[in-house]
Amino acid sequence: MEEDERDYDAARARMVAEQLAGRDIDDPAVLRAMRLVPRERFVPRAARPYAYDDGPLPIPANQTISQPYVVATMIAALALRPGDRVLEIGAGSGYAAAVLSRIVAAVYTVERHAELADYARERLAALGYDNVRVHHGDGTRGWPEHAPYDAIIVAAGGPLVPGSLRAQLAPGGRLVMPVGRSRQQQHLVLVTRRPDGGYDEERLAPVAFVPLIGEEGWK
Ligand code: SAH
Repeated sequence: MEEDERDYDAARARMVAEQLAGRDIDDPAVLRAMRLVPRERFVPRAARPYAYDDGPLPIPANQTISQPYVVATMIAALALRPGDRVLEIGAGSGYAAAVLSRIVAAVYTVERHAELADYARERLAALGYDNVRVHHGDGTRGWPEHAPYDAIIVAAGGPLVPGSLRAQLAPGGRLVMPVGRSRQQQHLVLVTRRPDGGYDEERLAPVAFVPLIGEEGWK
């Protein structure tokens, strides 16, 4: 019964209606994408019955797949357009990359744990989401080969917005990231690159993410 796909479809529709549209998510492209992507396929088997609960869930390597509402909030803040190319730091399970792939033309995602890079790659391939590329490495340095990006989403919390990521943002582009002095508590920060190359910054909601570990993150 738990494994019945129709149950998951119903639970997913309910999640979108109650946790997203029922709060403040009104971007139709984000709501549509989150109605499409089967979150149950991105969590370990034992966690599947909880795939549409209103919270984060554990994934391998001691990491977490973010709460659906947080994924939606961050993606909505990017104000994406269909032709955009997006960089994600922290592929984790691949779920957020999958959601992004249903909204934009191309997604590039970097993951520092080889085990998770493989996990994400497998799941994205199984679902036929072929406009996502997964790279194993330190995402605080971005992915310069495919820069600049129209949008950048960082799924782990760091002490500041890495200079490498700012530099890989196209003029007019937007970056969203949890930033905070402690490893446990952050605020979402939205950085917009102005057409003149400068940056505007705005503080959004308080959040709690796993740490961003790397050259331009926590050591
Ligand atoms: N977007 C993911 C959430 C992953 S949690 C999902 O939808 O499931 C954050 C991820 O960031 C973890 O997998 C962690 O290993 C990764 N991470 C932390 N520091 C990183 C870095 N410097 N480069 C790339 N990935 C990093």
